[in-house]
Amino acid sequence: MARYTGPVCRLCRAEQKKLMLKGNRCKSDKCPINKKRPAPGKDPKGRAGKRSDYGTQLREKQKLRRIYGMQEKQFSLFFERALRMTGITGENLFVMLEKRLDNVVYRLRFASSRSQARQLVLHGHVSVNGRRITIPSYLVRPEDEIAIAGKSKNMVIIKDALKEFGKSGVMPWLQLDPDGMKGKFLVSPRRSDITDLADIKEQMIVEFYSK
Ligand code: SF4
Repeated sequence: MARYTGPVCRLCRAEQKKLMLKGNRCKSDKCPINKKRPAPGKDPKGRAGKRSDYGTQLREKQKLRRIYGMQEKQFSLFFERALRMTGITGENLFVMLEKRLDNVVYRLRFASSRSQARQLVLHGHVSVNGRRITIPSYLVRPEDEIAIAGKSKNMVIIKDALKEFGKSGVMPWLQLDPDGMKGKFLVSPRRSDITDLADIKEQMIVEFYSK
């Protein structure tokens, strides 16, 4: 399946939720969700039809997949891995998504969005434990050190992202050294720790894939 290359704000409008796909713009008044723009193709005055269970589960899955910027095939592979792990599948899925290297780079404030973080990883600007890793879906482990590699520390987009977002701190399972442009993945988070995605109903995603 090809990567989506259309306007990303359209994805948020489709879900009627801020998926935070565009960095600074997401926090500004320019965000179409703040302006209450309707879902694409929907008449703003039209009556919303009742959604089927399948439709609701599908939307929940699409939301989470789009937040983490993944294609369907890779997302369903992640789900299968989560299913094989011990514990609660929905929670396992969340924890695995949080361990993705592109997500960790975003969470450490080295990038203003997950898609920008993905580009940084793909272009070799990120190292894990001193080794350059260019695979965005690489899963980091507790105690791994994630850093901006070598001369990439001079990149303006990274400095800007740290300046803009670094002030708000990082999630409790991470540690950031903004001056050294490095951070640590301390422990695997629990589902309840991922507070900014608390409204995602992972059980619906499990039901979607169980059909
Ligand atoms: Fe979504 Fe950000 Fe666009 Fe708002 S600005 S619609 S949160 S991508």
